[in-house]
Amino acid sequence: MKSERAKKISPSATLEITSRAKKMKKEGKDVVILAAGEPDFPTPRRIKDAAIKAIENNFTTYTPTSGIPELKEAICKKFERDNGLKYTTKEVMAHCGGKHALYLAFQCLLNPKDEVILHIPYWNSYIEQVKLAEGLPVEIMSKPDMSLDMDQIKSSITDKTKVLLINSPSNPSGYVIKKEEALVIGEILLKNKDLFLISDEVYEYFIYEGKHINIASLFPELKERILIVNAVSKSYSMTGWRLGYCAGPEELISSMTSLQDHMTSNPSSISQIAAVEAISGEQEDVKIMLQEFTKRRSFLVDTLNRFPLISCSPPGGAFYAFVNIEKTGMNSVTFADKLLSESLVAVIPGKAFGMDNYIRLSFAASREALEKGVERIEKFLKTV
Ligand code: PMP
Ligand code: GLU
Repeated sequence: MKSERAKKISPSATLEITSRAKKMKKEGKDVVILAAGEPDFPTPRRIKDAAIKAIENNFTTYTPTSGIPELKEAICKKFERDNGLKYTTKEVMAHCGGKHALYLAFQCLLNPKDEVILHIPYWNSYIEQVKLAEGLPVEIMSKPDMSLDMDQIKSSITDKTKVLLINSPSNPSGYVIKKEEALVIGEILLKNKDLFLISDEVYEYFIYEGKHINIASLFPELKERILIVNAVSKSYSMTGWRLGYCAGPEELISSMTSLQDHMTSNPSSISQIAAVEAISGEQEDVKIMLQEFTKRRSFLVDTLNRFPLISCSPPGGAFYAFVNIEKTGMNSVTFADKLLSESLVAVIPGKAFGMDNYIRLSFAASREALEKGVERIEKFLKTV
């Protein structure tokens, strides 16, 4: 019954494990969920109020597919405020989540067998999305400190290479690209005139060490070959509102809009109003979240590193601990399965991100969940 395309798609490990853990919780099991990356904070009051007002004002009809003008203007102002980049409203658009921006971009950029270079460990959906666009993911292993391997990038470029995909701060490693690396990437793009860069910046505001670097701001001449993807999902604890956005060349944005016309139409009108407030209102809530994540990161990393069989480096950004489990002798799927069924802690196996000797824990979970989680992991490791 299924098409060849459908046969090739695998479910998202990040979403699947999380929903399995949530189901166990509903059944009365005391599961600690450190799986999918979603802040445990409520969406800030100011944003909820804007959305409630939108409903009361009957702002509940279709909108232009690429977003209402107020939102597109707010997105342009955000890029100028945070990244020093000037975009017109024709160069930005809104989607149903950052995930959808990426999906549309691959569909509009790739011909069959076009290659997309990306680093292991990668966020799991990239691979499936590239394949759905009939492209070929070319996976490069990061260096041991999770930095980008520039020599490998250079030697992997062929006449089929269409896109270089970067994600800083990275999910799952937390690696934050340094200015020196950004400069080399810019040079690679200048040298390879057909290469296009997709820069996934959804964790932009969650940086503990280093600074967010935007390649488009370092190389204005490359702006026509860079698509920046972002979302309100993580930044403002709005994962369920499904509102992402991007900025790039007008020609690409126009194609992505036509495709979105036939896929979802506009993202939710109410979420768009909420996003205007999120992006352009007082940014205090982001700072509060960052402060809290900074504390949780120290707690989690320090505690995990006290356990003999596992180790993890402090992530420079995002909100994940990427933990090496090699010494346990288990692969990541067995480790995560056993940890969930025997000790009731849900984590994501590194296999989903291309590294089977790692597991990923989210510290966007409450402090209480983290304390309980590490206690259980310590006990679990004693049984290994
Ligand atoms: N990029 C990365 C690296 C992610 O981790 C995620 C997961 N949320 C997304 C994009 C997509 O985010 P959204 O929830 O806005 O679709
Ligand atoms: N991006 C988050 C994660 O990696 C949310 C789940 C998903 O969309 O994959 O956990």
